[in-house]
Amino acid sequence: MELFQQMSAMGHERVLFCSNPQVGLQAIIAVHSTVLGPGLGGVRMWPYASMDEALTDVLRLSRGMTYKAAAAGLNLGGGKAVILGDPKKHKSEALFRCFGQYVEELGGLYITAEDVGTDMEDMEVILTETRWVTGVNPAHGGGGDPSPVTAFGVLQGMKAAARWQFGDAALAGKRVAVQGLGNVGYHLATYLKEEGAELVAADLDGEATERAKAELGAEIVAPDEILGVECDIVAPCALGAVLNPTSIPRLRAKIVAGAANNQLAEEDRDGRALHERGILYAPDFVINAGGLINVYNELMTGYHQDRAMRMTRGIYLNMMRVFEISRSESIPTQAAAGRVAEERIRKVHGLRSQHWGRMIRQRRTRS
Ligand code: NAD
Repeated sequence: MELFQQMSAMGHERVLFCSNPQVGLQAIIAVHSTVLGPGLGGVRMWPYASMDEALTDVLRLSRGMTYKAAAAGLNLGGGKAVILGDPKKHKSEALFRCFGQYVEELGGLYITAEDVGTDMEDMEVILTETRWVTGVNPAHGGGGDPSPVTAFGVLQGMKAAARWQFGDAALAGKRVAVQGLGNVGYHLATYLKEEGAELVAADLDGEATERAKAELGAEIVAPDEILGVECDIVAPCALGAVLNPTSIPRLRAKIVAGAANNQLAEEDRDGRALHERGILYAPDFVINAGGLINVYNELMTGYHQDRAMRMTRGIYLNMMRVFEISRSESIPTQAAAGRVAEERIRKVHGLRSQHWGRMIRQRRTRS
């Protein structure tokens, strides 16, 4: 009964438990909402300590995808999958093919993609068994690595925040602190350099910081210092939960705008703390939607990067809308972003089958 109660409290439509001992597959697929379209979200492979931990993760992440897609204005719902296992030890062709068969059985209610612990190669194995997979290599009609598009979207959201907070969207001369120089963070830092921003950065990986120093002229600080450096904007692009009661009082930036998922350790508490300090927070699920927009483009008639970039520019206006609601209702930006997503789902509810049904039919005929 507990699971049903959890599903009903969080609003999930379906949860599918997948088990195949022969190939060592234990997976859970959660479809949170298909009101706006099929539930799209990556498949995470992680050595969870227990089934409960995996279940909590997939329920939380799939719900997050519903909000991300809705706030980005996409005709997509929210879904996510987790495979219980160590990606360094337990990957096999049979395991991913078996997972692909479960995805296929859902007939398009859930569309998978890469996530922590899975990559483009794994998506290609899944593609052997199902057409409901995105994030495949451009050779298979996919959009490839979404990180550059995600970074471009973060740049748009950061410009909107600068416009709101400083009265000017230009980032030239602004001091921006980037936490994490991985796939997204490095691309973002490159864009910021082109915009004429002054860069300060940190990463646990010495090679990444050396490269940023040499190629982008970034000032490098220690990982535990980056969030507290004197700057205009701080961009968390590494881990989640970095905005918490310890870090928020240390912030010296006027804006937080970065790619990391789940930046607020506790949404209500930490969103309010930032709001009360007058720090403008660009909600993560709005600003980092570029990757999702990129895979969404794979579901349309043929992937075009120009179209993905053009749609990603819309993050600027999406963010402005969130800031306006936050001001007019005197609520934290995180709460305002939640309202934008919920309002869209509510309004579109009655129209659900038209666009989505057409998209699914098109994909069926194509494969
Ligand atoms: P990544 O693993 O390539 O990069 C993360 C970087 O952060 C690594 O270089 C790592 O060394 C560094 N790091 C880890 N802990 C750190 C710390 N304490 N201080 C400083 N650096 C630290 O990941 P990514 O693909 O660049 O994604 C970054 C974040 O953005 C993640 O939270 C991810 O979930 C989110 N995100 C990514 C995408 C995408 O398209 N890749 C889309 C949406 C959201």
